[in-house]
Amino acid sequence: MALSAIPGYPRIGARRELKRAVEGYWDGDVGREELEETARSLRLEAWTRMRDAGIDLIPSNTFSYYDHVLDTIAMVGAAPPRYAGGDNDLDTYFAMARGAQGERIDVTALEMVKWFDTNYHYLVPELSPATRFRLANRKPLDEYLEARAAGIETMPVLLGPVSFLLLARGFDADGNHDDDFDLLSLLPDLLDVYAELLALLAEAGAQWVQFDEPVLVQDRTPEELAALTRAYERLAAAAGSTKLLVNTYFGDVDEAYRTLAELPVDAIGLDLVRGRRNLGLLQRFGLPGGKHVVAGVVDGRNVWLNDLGASLATVREIGAAVGEDRVIVGASCSLLHVPIELDLETDLDPELRSWLAFANQKIEEVAVLGRALDDPNSAADELAANRSALESRRNSPRTFNPAVRKRVDSTTGADYDRDGSVEERRAAQRMRLGLPPFPTTTIGSFPQTPEIRRSRRRHANGRITAEEYEGFLEAEIEQVIRLQERIGLDVLVHGESERNDMVEYFGEQLDGFAFTRFGWVQSYGSRNVKPPIVYGDVARPGAMTVRWATYAQSLTDRPVKGMLTGPVTILNWSFIRDDQPRSETCRQIALAIRDEVVDLEAAGIPIIQVDEPALREGVPLRTADWPAYLGWAVPCFRLATAGVRDDTQIQSHMCYVHLGDVLDAVSDMEADVMLLFNARSDAESLDGFRDRGYDKDLGLGVYDIHSPRVPPTDEMVGRLEEAAAVIDPAHLWVNPDCGLKTRRYEETVPSLEHMVEAAQHMRRA
Ligand code: GLN
Repeated sequence: MALSAIPGYPRIGARRELKRAVEGYWDGDVGREELEETARSLRLEAWTRMRDAGIDLIPSNTFSYYDHVLDTIAMVGAAPPRYAGGDNDLDTYFAMARGAQGERIDVTALEMVKWFDTNYHYLVPELSPATRFRLANRKPLDEYLEARAAGIETMPVLLGPVSFLLLARGFDADGNHDDDFDLLSLLPDLLDVYAELLALLAEAGAQWVQFDEPVLVQDRTPEELAALTRAYERLAAAAGSTKLLVNTYFGDVDEAYRTLAELPVDAIGLDLVRGRRNLGLLQRFGLPGGKHVVAGVVDGRNVWLNDLGASLATVREIGAAVGEDRVIVGASCSLLHVPIELDLETDLDPELRSWLAFANQKIEEVAVLGRALDDPNSAADELAANRSALESRRNSPRTFNPAVRKRVDSTTGADYDRDGSVEERRAAQRMRLGLPPFPTTTIGSFPQTPEIRRSRRRHANGRITAEEYEGFLEAEIEQVIRLQERIGLDVLVHGESERNDMVEYFGEQLDGFAFTRFGWVQSYGSRNVKPPIVYGDVARPGAMTVRWATYAQSLTDRPVKGMLTGPVTILNWSFIRDDQPRSETCRQIALAIRDEVVDLEAAGIPIIQVDEPALREGVPLRTADWPAYLGWAVPCFRLATAGVRDDTQIQSHMCYVHLGDVLDAVSDMEADVMLLFNARSDAESLDGFRDRGYDKDLGLGVYDIHSPRVPPTDEMVGRLEEAAAVIDPAHLWVNPDCGLKTRRYEETVPSLEHMVEAAQHMRRA
């Protein structure tokens, strides 16, 4: 009998029930009991669905009120001491997630970081030599027993101890960052806690426990791999008759394979969708000791129907390598990263819908694969239906636009390059723009006020006409322009009040994109995103932003910049087609953006900013794979932007902190002005620029927009002086570190006033 396994399930609820409950709890409108009741019913619904589908290994403890790493921090008693004043466990938990201010407590939140290469964010454990672990709660046991009481046997899922430590950040005894602190020195202590928990789960009768060790798909040192062995030797000794599964996902385990395969556990899990080399590793090195392997063949990161025939073939190949009864069919990773229920998407075109699978459909796919492995006849109907849906997708003219194909094929090297050199462009732009030294500008968006949101909603619901809505937006743009003039900024923006989201806004105006109504995916805590689905060749039927940029420019003599989202960011923040390479889809998007760039130039817009916040964060998990990615991602940015004259200035914005390791790529983008997120990591990026040199203009984010704090002028002067010591002051811009859309005007206006004063100070100096 082939077993089937699901490594994790979304927590948010098909209709975002968790968001409402949690936010209601924060606002005091939902009581703790009601919150817990919502959580229980979401868990039960998920377990029941997987049970009914016939899944053998059903995950529990994948529910979370906020984040599973935070759950682990709470469970192992690793809340930093500053949270000690909390009123109860749940409020301490939320204080770590969001910070808290009250009579007994006033604390900032834990740092939040992207979960591997997904758009999910986790809270970073703060660990120091003073950290002492203890089993502070028994959430995994409680949820296991809760499922059992409902008649469902589940497999508790834990973040593995090695991943927990390696995802943490080191601190010294005084609470300062200490990136040299050896996080693995805490492993023995942590294992005591995990072993205690495991013994409880074993005693309660858990048949399987899954440990997630996704850090194994990143570059790892021999010491880290040795720690993995020590960890599972210890845990295996505590497991009794409970079987242990060590799961990996998001990529190839490469040099970790042999260590993983030798662990004294009962099964390992491999991602066979993103991990292209995992199958080969399995075939080459085998799997000793009668272990099982969970073959992650159903894609947990994308929304397409699985090719069941191809998956069966893969699973059979694995069976041939390790023994047929050793294969467990599974999803490539937790289904956390896909929307929940496709059946809710009644507005989607039925043909497109027939090509898709959300979490609930993926569960069925895994179950069908499990049955088909035992007896192909038992799943004959499903396999046939799957074949015909795939066939319809393959042959559908909707996915294929000959004009786009032809255009991509006929791009030449010259399309990727500006005409003039950096110096020629700089001279032409100086002449045209006549800006002072230390020019001031913003990243694009101005505060999205409640009025803006209301007006957008009313337009979407048909309660105001398109004309009324446009009138509202024009008035908004005029206000933003006048405000910037009054503050004294040099390069103005229109404020982006017409945009809901920097990807959705463009996707809605491009061919080849589809939008769902309920296709939410958790981004962090109660925040969810609804990524568009790129199903076909991408083209731009008409201008997307020219109207707003030209309107804004008509109101002022100062230069207004056009504002676009770059191709790599649109790609990385969408569900993209899996029937062609990402680079191919990216080139199509790049050409669509290029048309917009050229149209903006023709409409007289002198500066065009093309944002690429996701270019850095999209780098592959293994450094060996970076050159291949950067090798098409950077050229795609250039393809999007190189169509303009020398005297049109291309700006870009990236907002990832660790840029030091990709400075060559940043430079290769050939943006005339790069406006960077820097407010929180100045020293680090400055070193990079000092060592490497940089020949184009730079703005290094002089204040942090993620905080409501209004920074004083001299603080920004200080940052500018630091930057001017490293970078030619004639090439320096003055800007906040990111868009202002999440801020209020109360903070934005004084902060920008101080920023302009800081620039004036630098000009006098
Ligand atoms: N132009 C966008 C804004 O200001 C850029 C935001 C981003 O890149 N994250 O909102």
